[in-house]
Amino acid sequence: MDFDLFVIGGGSAGVRCARIAAGHGARVGVAEARFWGGTCVNIGCVPKKFMVMAAEYGLAAEDAAGFGWDAAKGSHNWGRLIAAKDKEISRLNGIYQRLLHQAGASVFEARATFIDAHTLDVGGQRITAERIVIATGGHPTRLEIPGAELGIVSDDAFYLPDCPKRIAIIGSGYIAVEFAGIFAGLGAETHLIYRQPLPLRGFDEDLRLMLAEQMQGNKVILHPDTTPVSIMAEGDGRRLALSDCSVLDVDMVFFATGRAPNVAGLNLAAAGVKTKPSGAVIVDDNLATSAPHIYAIGDVTDLLNLTPVATAEGHAVADTLFGNKPRQVSLANVPTAVFSIPPIGTVGITEEHAPVGSKIFVTKFKPMRHQISGRQRFTLMKLVVDGVTDKVLGVHMLGEDAPEIVQGLAVAVIAGATKADFDRTIGIHPTAAEEFVTLRTQTRVVGQEMAAE
Ligand code: NDP
Repeated sequence: MDFDLFVIGGGSAGVRCARIAAGHGARVGVAEARFWGGTCVNIGCVPKKFMVMAAEYGLAAEDAAGFGWDAAKGSHNWGRLIAAKDKEISRLNGIYQRLLHQAGASVFEARATFIDAHTLDVGGQRITAERIVIATGGHPTRLEIPGAELGIVSDDAFYLPDCPKRIAIIGSGYIAVEFAGIFAGLGAETHLIYRQPLPLRGFDEDLRLMLAEQMQGNKVILHPDTTPVSIMAEGDGRRLALSDCSVLDVDMVFFATGRAPNVAGLNLAAAGVKTKPSGAVIVDDNLATSAPHIYAIGDVTDLLNLTPVATAEGHAVADTLFGNKPRQVSLANVPTAVFSIPPIGTVGITEEHAPVGSKIFVTKFKPMRHQISGRQRFTLMKLVVDGVTDKVLGVHMLGEDAPEIVQGLAVAVIAGATKADFDRTIGIHPTAAEEFVTLRTQTRVVGQEMAAE
């Protein structure tokens, strides 16, 4: 065999797996056809966060007046933002490549296709490997409506020549909600069209309600219970017909309607690797596919499509196969954030999924900054506590710094902290975070008609 391990895909999952396996002494090859670092670094988490920051600066410039600054907001230069973002992304690309070289992995800038269960065609070269890892990620999808090709997807949103003046974003998952904050914050008339009564299905209801209110406060125009019917070109603009029989004239329609695994062209059948009807590669608890020496990690499995999960999976597979440290990745209590404006941080179960008898603690307040800035921005914090064991089962927050705060609290939840542990922790004053350790009044009990609110 040419390699002990060949990794297909140089994104978060693949790079981590290749690097760690090579560090354990394995002979490793890795192929990437598009860009090192994959979705997260190039057309996902990282550039998205820079764009959210850009939008927040505009809002902060408005808020500064309350603190005595005679600062005029001025106009935003989209081109300068994209150029700065691109410069940083290419620096990160370089780091990813360097890490692989330093670890001693052989790097192929090419597409890989299975010839048989141990043989790959990598850019025309025939390569054999003892073990193979599929880490090809996913891609954004459009809805099948007439004119769908006239809409953009998140891949495109990072390279637009200009900021649209009017944009309709379809969906209300992570991507839709985050880009609504970006475009509205940068001055676009922003419509959010979604089929649920509230955005972010699956998240805590109190958060969803407050997010909808806060988005409206940021001038996002919400269209709940609505689906798109068709898109037509109107000169350079787009005419979007909606299920409520209304029509929106915008410059751009953006599908943020989910992602699908990248399996096309891999020829998985030749290797005996089975997939779900969605294309997601089927894996067991060790991330092994139906071909036991072939593994799949990250978004291509469509288990929990988050970068830190993908890197953890890559690391675990490398340690298990080559580091003499067999282990699995637990998908329980994975913390996550939505970089909406303001953002959300959450870990553990929601009130809707909490067992009957769970105690709910909720607080809503205007953060200190906005007592003076004048902005109608609020923070919501919520704990879901087991009624029997007193363990904190869920921590949910919407408000400034929520992702930073909840990352720390996730450690407590994973460690099995109780509400009593939270209560005996001294707060850091004055912060928003201290509210999590001073939540004394129970708001309600799951399954009981009671309100101490
Ligand atoms: P999501 O699955 O989060 O959301 C898809 C959205 O599209 C939902 O609002 C969904 O509605 C809607 N939708 C799907 N099908 C239809 C349909 N036929 N008609 C109308 N609406 C439809 O996908 P995203 O594209 O936002 O993101 C993909 C994944 O990427 C996320 O799940 C997440 O795992 C990851 N991600 C993580 C981020 C982070 O960690 N901050 C940031 C961005 C992405 P409904 O709810 O009704 O199904």
